[in-house]
Amino acid sequence: MNPILLCQHCGNKTSHTIIEKGLEKEYAEFEDGVTYDIDIDLWFTKCDNCHKHSLFFCLNDNSDESSCLWPNERRIDQAVPKKINIAYKEAIKVKKISKIAFIILIRRSLEILCKHEKVNGKDLKSKIKKLGEFEIIPQKLTDMADLIRLLGNDGVHKTDITISDNEINLLDDFFLAIIEYIYIAPEKIKKIKNRIEKK
Ligand SMILES: [Zn+2]
Repeated sequence: MNPILLCQHCGNKTSHTIIEKGLEKEYAEFEDGVTYDIDIDLWFTKCDNCHKHSLFFCLNDNSDESSCLWPNERRIDQAVPKKINIAYKEAIKVKKISKIAFIILIRRSLEILCKHEKVNGKDLKSKIKKLGEFEIIPQKLTDMADLIRLLGNDGVHKTDITISDNEINLLDDFFLAIIEYIYIAPEKIKKIKNRIEKK
């Protein structure tokens, strides 16, 4: 049976046909005398939904322990609130198909983030300002958020706007930086602290 993998082209978790398999054996030493053999499988696949090619890395031939090496995978951490996570995934789904749709949806993700953080205001501009004022995000990140808002405005109101792939990737990076700062980094710090305190 074809493995179920998350396609980074069409954004669907769907079956993939494996065209070529490669096996790499790695040897890791964790402590003195404690060693492990690790089987790393490389799968060159074709998505059964969109028919595009990808390269997956997986451990021990298990699709549950896989990640996509190409195209670059954008994995959202569990620490990100569900509604924001879903909104961002929707944006990612359309990224390759329509830049305007991506911008509109990434702007919508930002609106949802503001709502989740209980930041109110008459428009997105004032909400972003408050994210900074309440120190939910630092000033540099409010500049980034405001850029998403500005480009989102253009995406909504102008039909002749041309946006480069690079700008689209920047917007994506900005949004990821914001959610990393608010949700992912604090969760990581908490986990590390818990581990240290247990020792
Ligand atoms: Zn696909």
